Amino acid sequence: MEILQNILLAPFTTIAVGGPAKYFSRARTAAELVDLFGWARSKGENVFVLGGGSNVLVSDAGFDGLVVKIEISGINFDVVGDTVLVTAGAGVDWDGFVRECVDRDLAGVECLSGIPGNVGGTPVQNVGAYGQEVSETIVRVRCFDRAAGTIVELSNDECGFEYRKSIFNTSERERYVVLWVVFRLVPGGQPKIVYKDLQQRFSGGAPSLREARETVIAIRREKSMVIDPTDPNSRSAGSFFKNPIVSTSVADSIAEELKLDSIPQFAAGDDDVKIPAAWLIEQAGFRKGFILGNAGISTNHSLAIINRGSATSAEIVALKDLTQKSVLDKFGIRLQPEPIFIGF
Ligand code: NAP
Repeated sequence: MEILQNILLAPFTTIAVGGPAKYFSRARTAAELVDLFGWARSKGENVFVLGGGSNVLVSDAGFDGLVVKIEISGINFDVVGDTVLVTAGAGVDWDGFVRECVDRDLAGVECLSGIPGNVGGTPVQNVGAYGQEVSETIVRVRCFDRAAGTIVELSNDECGFEYRKSIFNTSERERYVVLWVVFRLVPGGQPKIVYKDLQQRFSGGAPSLREARETVIAIRREKSMVIDPTDPNSRSAGSFFKNPIVSTSVADSIAEELKLDSIPQFAAGDDDVKIPAAWLIEQAGFRKGFILGNAGISTNHSLAIINRGSATSAEIVALKDLTQKSVLDKFGIRLQPEPIFIGF
């Protein structure tokens, strides 16, 4: 096990900001990960586990401890009855995984094409897009239990999946490190085309899994939500805020205040609705392309805070604070950031 010192973390994140890790190492196997945690314990160092770096914001001061980058690789396919169980290492690139499944004509993750990050991050926030969530196909997750120092398997139920939530980012936050994820996919299954954005592109016809994947990527690319080194709008941590879920009465009072018949909203349970955070941000006065120092709002998506080239983490946080405060002052809704903040 090789432990490096004073390694800049910015290059390991898609928003490309953040200072150094005091110690840095890579875990290619579960055994290496266990050894690294043992090493950190013996030294009294905190550990932060880094995946694809697509959903983190590292402070300018960096991380005072050991950063372990998970690089567990490999994808296995096992036919079980009419389905295929696909086991993928936490360090596998998520979109490469989706491409491989679609190439094998396996349905269940096609709408999740083009999402940055690694397989291991997907159960944590129950990644979803265009009406499909990983919780629909995850069978179990193999993890390292930091509290017990053992490897455990959690069933789908035990993961406690909800909208963008699981036990991994709520009740058991920081306890488990995801090592492998097992998905159940359907050979020759139909793609899930439930969102208007997708339906409009296939008016009437039934697309193949590959067509669904290509279309999702095209939509995401139009919004700069596919990582592309030639697109400065994609130097971001993706959506910076979660789409808030509020009661219908809150949505109605916002519409009344703005003198609108209604505002954009989607049903989210009994008496609740989900309001697009991008819409709230725009209504609070932030147009696409808004600039604050070296940080900015993507010219293609109001929900992405971007590093315009040489932003510090403090500049990203200043823009986050400003948008959050403006939405709170105008609508009484406190937007919750989606990325994880490291070293603040
Ligand atoms: P979008 O498609 O403009 O949608 C904005 C919001 O409207 C989302 O909350 C979305 O709900 C909701 N929405 C749109 N059409 C809907 C429908 N037919 N039924 C119910 N709700 C609907 O969002 P975007 O920012 O460009 O992102 C594209 C997709 O990627 C969205 O599905 C978004 O949620 C997803 N995304 C997921 C993550 C994550 O998993 N952490 C991060 C970024 C973006 P949903 O959120 O339920 O889709």
